[in-house]
Amino acid sequence: MYKFKWNNKLGALAVIGILAMGNWAQTLATDTKTTQTEKSQAAQAAQAADMALYTRVITNIAGKKIPNRSNGTVGNKMIQRYLVGHFKEIALTPPCDEKFTQEHIYYEKKIINVVGAIPGVGQLKDQWLIIGGHYDHIGSGLLGMGNDTGKIYPGADDNASGTAGVILLSKSIKEQVDIMDDANRRSILFCCFDAEEIGLFGSKMIADNLADFGIKDAGSVIAMLNMDMIGRVRDKEIHVFATGTAKQWNAILDKASIGIDLDIQRDTRIFGQSDHASFIKHDIPVLFFNSGLHKDFHSTRDTVDKINFTGAVKTVNLIENIALELIKRDQMLSKIKPNTLGVGMMDNKNRANDILQISSIAPDSVAAKAGLQKGDELLQWQGKPINNFKHLRLLINQAQKDTNIKLTIQRSGKEMSINIRFTG
Ligand SMILES: [Zn+2]
Repeated sequence: MYKFKWNNKLGALAVIGILAMGNWAQTLATDTKTTQTEKSQAAQAAQAADMALYTRVITNIAGKKIPNRSNGTVGNKMIQRYLVGHFKEIALTPPCDEKFTQEHIYYEKKIINVVGAIPGVGQLKDQWLIIGGHYDHIGSGLLGMGNDTGKIYPGADDNASGTAGVILLSKSIKEQVDIMDDANRRSILFCCFDAEEIGLFGSKMIADNLADFGIKDAGSVIAMLNMDMIGRVRDKEIHVFATGTAKQWNAILDKASIGIDLDIQRDTRIFGQSDHASFIKHDIPVLFFNSGLHKDFHSTRDTVDKINFTGAVKTVNLIENIALELIKRDQMLSKIKPNTLGVGMMDNKNRANDILQISSIAPDSVAAKAGLQKGDELLQWQGKPINNFKHLRLLINQAQKDTNIKLTIQRSGKEMSINIRFTG
């Protein structure tokens, strides 16, 4: 499987020597000719090298030297150059007009994404995996998102943690593919997104302009993997959202998590407040990795010293396993269609309360099959009140397929219940 063979004459090389050579350590960790001891030493060395890189990147991005990296600032520009430097050093391919940046005026802002590619080979090379995380943050509280205006918002977890994840992943995967002899392998686009905090602009700009990278269309993208806030793993817990966007996600996660010492919390919900949402809009299956919200979110207390480096690097290792599976598997993923109820709603703008009254029913829809009628008012979902239209939409998005859901409705002044069921 691997072209590189472990040379026994080099066996006496101290592990300390291997430490400095990420490539070799990675190779050793997987080479079948090495002994168990050599393998575990090499694996430890690889882990130590990963940790060193990850720690360095996160500290450089969120350390105190660059207080403001929000869109359009000098700090933002400095981080771009820093990230481009890493992509160059890792020897990624510049994918956008032979540059490591994608720049456009977009939504009236100058948005600059940092991008790097690993071209695929053979029949799969025109299909792409996109891996990303945003590098911007909320500035000095001047964006009106923090309370301490003018102070330093380090954004170590949000999202130096994910940006460092993109760098580490690109390095680890590059090392692996350099020694692969697969005849067919998909291409990978690594992205550090700008302007996430002001409306996911950087990721939208990529999803809307795939041609910038020679990607034919959204249908040629097998998946997008997003890291936003992976730095606060507690009790080994990492959340993997949007597992409901492709049929194979559970099986892929089962395989990828073998040997990864994390408590992986799968969630079919999409959780739309980060960059993966820009790709779901184009029907691309996604996974979103996140170690959970905390009281330091968007505050001056989101500092480097609170990062769980071990947990974050384990998360990156998990994503690496997923990515390697995605670039090599024969088939694209089977997308799961989003749930739709098939009802129109009355305009409630002038009413004091949000009353969810059905104004139309689409033929053959879930609503029609369940027997919902025009004029019905939706009151409860599985026994709990439906607050407003936005809440209803969320409940629909998150509903399990092929499961009965009890809706409490009001029809002609009478309360009654009706079962609805979304199918895959
Ligand atoms: Zn944020």
